[in-house]
Amino acid sequence: MGARPRPLYVIQKHQATSLHYDLRLEVDGVLKSWAVPKGPSTDPRDKRLAIEVPDHSLAHGDYEGPNVEIWDRGTYRVLGDAPMNQALAAGHVSVWIEGKRLRGGYTLQRTRVERSQQQWLLIKRRDEEATGDA
Ligand code: MN
Repeated sequence: MGARPRPLYVIQKHQATSLHYDLRLEVDGVLKSWAVPKGPSTDPRDKRLAIEVPDHSLAHGDYEGPNVEIWDRGTYRVLGDAPMNQALAAGHVSVWIEGKRLRGGYTLQRTRVERSQQQWLLIKRRDEEATGDA
């Protein structure tokens, strides 16, 4: 097998009715997406609510518009043995992000499903890219 390019990681800052940050990770040809109201934190103590939103097309990862700016972009890889789609289905996945603003390990942990809305927490892993006193 030849080297495959790493899957896309992008965060779009979205000035909608309320400002949020759309985290998108390429999985099986689409962008899995979460709306993160406060945006990501580099401090492992700051657990950030991440509301799962519908998949977007890969092309959307390039989109910028009047209310949308690409806040960060790069690639990611899964940490651990399970493939990304299985880890997501199980509600727990850790990834290593290689962006311009964000680097290092992040965990997405599903906390609950309310009506049809899946809520997750986005948590910085404790590694050399983490900030804070811990
Ligand atoms: Mn959005």
